Amino acid sequence: MPNKRILVLGGTSDANVLAMELLKSGFDVVTSFAGVTENPVLPEGEIRVGGFGGEDGLYDYLKAEGFAALADATHPFAAQISRHGFNAAERAGIPYLRLERSAWTPLPADNWISVQDTEAAVAALPDAARALLTIGRKEIAGFLARDDLSGVARMIEKPPFELPTNWALVLARPPFSVEAERELMAFHKITHLVTKNAGGKLTVAKLMAARAQRIPVVMIERPQKPPAPAFGSAPALVAALV
Ligand code: NAP
Repeated sequence: MPNKRILVLGGTSDANVLAMELLKSGFDVVTSFAGVTENPVLPEGEIRVGGFGGEDGLYDYLKAEGFAALADATHPFAAQISRHGFNAAERAGIPYLRLERSAWTPLPADNWISVQDTEAAVAALPDAARALLTIGRKEIAGFLARDDLSGVARMIEKPPFELPTNWALVLARPPFSVEAERELMAFHKITHLVTKNAGGKLTVAKLMAARAQRIPVVMIERPQKPPAPAFGSAPALVAALV
């Protein structure tokens, strides 16, 4: 491949690993961030920050910068940017490859209530449940609006509003240990864990702690991503590019 300039759509720890692997293999890497996190952990290589202005904006950027390929390493729940990336790469005539960690699957000892979206997750919680919300800060409003619910909302950065008094705010960045997750759930008398099926090892401890304490898990399943080659690890994606 004579042109070695690759655009990585980032915003995840996987994207940072991918950027490093690409650089090691001699690629020229630009990693793109949406700009929604105040203090993101930055990968090596070139960085750009902010939306592209939709699919057309991304297409223009790909053409202007002369990228050879687009590597999508966004979060499994970031559906819009992946759709834009897939379409824009197709229009620009360059390969679109996705880095996608496997979804979590329940073990026999688990009690999962699988739902399609946040709204269904709110509806799935029984009266007066004490929930541990681990779905970030953007989609917690529906839970807070239910007066009978209480518990803990955990996220990396502060939400732009105050939580009602029946909710505790925990600001923390993964990874977490199983023991710490178990203590958090026990201390706050959590009856339900609410999570997105993000997959990966970094945040899996909460599922292990819930299993050990027989706490039901309301699992928000992944949105559909574009029909394109998906690789389970950064080296596998790099090998395909090479
Ligand atoms: P989204 O709904 O798929 O995208 C919304 C808009 O944000 C996109 O249309 C695009 O704006 C911009 N955008 C998203 N990712 C971008 C990137 N890597 N570079 C430049 N612009 C980007 O995404 P989201 O769910 O809001 O997530 C935003 C970012 O946070 C993503 O990069 C994702 O990897 C990361 N993240 C998301 C979650 C989650 O649960 N959703 C969790 C952890 C990390 P324009 O249309 O203007 O180009």
